[in-house]
Amino acid sequence: MSQFWSQRTHDLTPYVPGEQPKDMEYIKLNTNENPYPPSDKVLAAIQAASDEGLRRYSDPIGNDLKQAIADYYNVDTSMVFFGNGSDEVLGHTFAALLKQDAPLLFPDICYSFYPVYCKLFGIESIQIPLNENFEIDIKDYEIENGGIIFPNPNAPTSIALPLDDIETLVQKNPNSVIVVDEAYVDFGAETAVPLTKKYPNVLVTQTFSKSRSLAGLRVGFAIGAPELIEGLERVKNSFHPYTLGKPALAGATASMLDVETFEKNRDALIETRDWSTQALAELGFDVTPSSTNFVLALPPEGHSAEEIYLALKSKGVLVRYFKTPRIDKHLRISIGTDEEMQGLLNALKSIIT
Ligand SMILES: *Cc1c(COP(=O)(O)O)cnc(C)c1O
Repeated sequence: MSQFWSQRTHDLTPYVPGEQPKDMEYIKLNTNENPYPPSDKVLAAIQAASDEGLRRYSDPIGNDLKQAIADYYNVDTSMVFFGNGSDEVLGHTFAALLKQDAPLLFPDICYSFYPVYCKLFGIESIQIPLNENFEIDIKDYEIENGGIIFPNPNAPTSIALPLDDIETLVQKNPNSVIVVDEAYVDFGAETAVPLTKKYPNVLVTQTFSKSRSLAGLRVGFAIGAPELIEGLERVKNSFHPYTLGKPALAGATASMLDVETFEKNRDALIETRDWSTQALAELGFDVTPSSTNFVLALPPEGHSAEEIYLALKSKGVLVRYFKTPRIDKHLRISIGTDEEMQGLLNALKSIIT
């Protein structure tokens, strides 16, 4: 606290990311990072971009990256926006599109950054409870709103909403923007990108942090109708036009073009997720059906999530525990390599038996 802070700074409730402790080597399953490294092609592109001259500003338009994303999703480059991680893309989205007279709607259990942006930008919001199975029921969203945002698949529940439901939501709300945060879509849900070509009010955001192994490079993007993208560009160019440095632009472009590595790592992760879900169930955990690179697991009777989280940490395994209503009985466990998941399971066995 300081007398020099503005009132707005006083009133903020900043986002708290998952811990990145440095005190020892952990099996790190707490921030949904990809366990596989980016490909050599990506690393070579980053090196080449750095060699070529960091003394010059990066390209503020970033057409190569836009083209690579546009080609992958078969849309026009005028429908593509990128930023410094999808967190920044989302920030610009809140400022550009979601601050309206009517309240913004989002699920009560979802990405905990949304309420943070609402505070920062002074956006009124209503949190709509997920149903008892932790699913989004689109009937609960039939109220006046100035926008709707949700992750799909949802985080931290890992559950996906079918594309038909998203389309219904879009049709029922022709006067508000529906933002689908697809940070995890590559791990098992259907993308809403095709809807962006059919409707003027859908914005899809994605990230290179999870399925493309580039959390440390900080690149995210959005796809939507050209008018929505133009709105995002207006805000971006009123804030920071050189969003991405040359290494990030080049690395993300190379990653988008390297479909083979992307698919190989994604498939390996899904296979690991499926056998480890089974193994967790055998230990007595109740695991939600995951379409992501993490699972939400309810510990067996007689064990609290917090106790297991702490015991795992002391054994060198980090998972995420949210001390917040409705999900404080669960653990969110990111999917690592086969060896890392085996390490988790061994540690869990010694804790719960
Ligand atoms: C990880 C995550 C993001 C942010 O990703 P970055 O691109 O790393 O900023 C956005 N939304 C959800 C739901 C996430 O889990």
